[in-house]
Amino acid sequence: MSVTTVAAPAVSSPATTAAAAGSPAAGPGRAPLPVLGADVRVPLVTGGEVAYAALDYAASAPALRRVWDDVAAYAPYYGSVHRGAGHLSQLSTELFETSRATVAAFLGCREDDQVVFTRSTTDSLNLLAAALPAGTRVHVFETEHHAALLPWQRRRDCHVTHLPAPRTHRQAVAALERALADATPQGPALVCVTGASNVTGELWPVRELAAVAHAHGARIVLDAAQLAPHHPVDIAELDVDWVAFSGHKLYAPFGSGVLAGRADWLREAEPYLAGGGASRTVTRGADGAVTVDWHTTVARHEAGSPNVIGAYAIASACAALTEAGFEGLVAREQELVTRVREGLAAVPGARVLSLFGDDAPRVGVISFVVDGWNSSHLAAALSAEYGIGVRDGLFCAHPLVRTLLGGGPEEPGECGAAGTAAGEAPLGALRVSFGAGTPDEHIERFLRAVRELVRDGARWTYRTEGGRCVPVKD
Ligand code: PLP
Repeated sequence: MSVTTVAAPAVSSPATTAAAAGSPAAGPGRAPLPVLGADVRVPLVTGGEVAYAALDYAASAPALRRVWDDVAAYAPYYGSVHRGAGHLSQLSTELFETSRATVAAFLGCREDDQVVFTRSTTDSLNLLAAALPAGTRVHVFETEHHAALLPWQRRRDCHVTHLPAPRTHRQAVAALERALADATPQGPALVCVTGASNVTGELWPVRELAAVAHAHGARIVLDAAQLAPHHPVDIAELDVDWVAFSGHKLYAPFGSGVLAGRADWLREAEPYLAGGGASRTVTRGADGAVTVDWHTTVARHEAGSPNVIGAYAIASACAALTEAGFEGLVAREQELVTRVREGLAAVPGARVLSLFGDDAPRVGVISFVVDGWNSSHLAAALSAEYGIGVRDGLFCAHPLVRTLLGGGPEEPGECGAAGTAAGEAPLGALRVSFGAGTPDEHIERFLRAVRELVRDGARWTYRTEGGRCVPVKD
């Protein structure tokens, strides 16, 4: 195999191997996209084993088979990016930059937008926070994931306003309108909003919020960590200034994330990390002082050796979702959403958490509580007795989950018996989340398991360990 014949297609078209891998297009009634881990079997406490049902996509989604194949095809040609004179260095540099272009196209970036490769959504939003002009007034709903809620308040020279949880899209838009109209003095302002909640899966009125922000001279960043894997995101059409997302939630778990959008604030900010790659020239003056001339391009915030595999994996995932037909993927996921919501509605005592009500558009992220059940107990039983991986707790969105639960104790409850006393708010919720790789069987098994556990109780004994329920070993 010669380097050029194998590596060239991978560079010019990320994920060309996908066509060869034969990913079926998804759509209503069609098969899910192939993902790794589909054949992994896990032991049950009750004996035997079962194929693992990964229903925690909102935390980290399994890798698309195609992403894995693309990365594997490139791996032998891996080389240093931006530094080396060798053939593989040049090839890797080209792959890195082609990946940037693929992501820009996936997000519908405008001509002068930049795509910065970061480690994750958290990293992207911290980068933007570090780049805010001094005195920026930041407006953020208290319902955000902590990654979107917290970075701004570390900037002591900026001012953060937390907007209370709205109960309708209209309230959200009106609250922002009021906050921006009231904001004095005028100056740079930023609004941060999520595209889809990591707790309720509900979509936020991003376009409307962007219009309000811009009408008041503010900018807006979209936390698309939960939106991008489930729904096309078009930065120009939504008219947002920046978009942030994570590779590992977009079927590309290789340690990269993205901050895409306006270049000016980033260009004028101090480099996020000081080091090689971000610096154009470093000189030592006659007085011995070292002075640095920093890049003003995207390299300014990508100091250190870039994660070319992570960037390529994201580009491969973007290409895979686009080529599979995102509309079809959305339609299939919506069928699963309906099935889960209808299934949970039929479980006595189950309550799905929602900010915007039953009719709100949403993605495949659904949190719920069941009367008399500690969510950690239910999650442990789903795993130990049915081989189903979900998540329980407050999902790094503590203010939102506490609002939706109506308060709740700060300390974990005991598992085993009823999780909460009558009339007391539960400690946390249980979240089931799924996407392009989820087979129908996982959803059916999940619903059957919840029905059986709520009707018959757990078949195993559990105890509390470090605040979590775990099965008691034989
Ligand atoms: N924003 C939302 C809405 C999320 O759901 C998450 C992670 O769950 C994040 C941001 C942070 O993503 P990461 O942990 O990949 O930085």
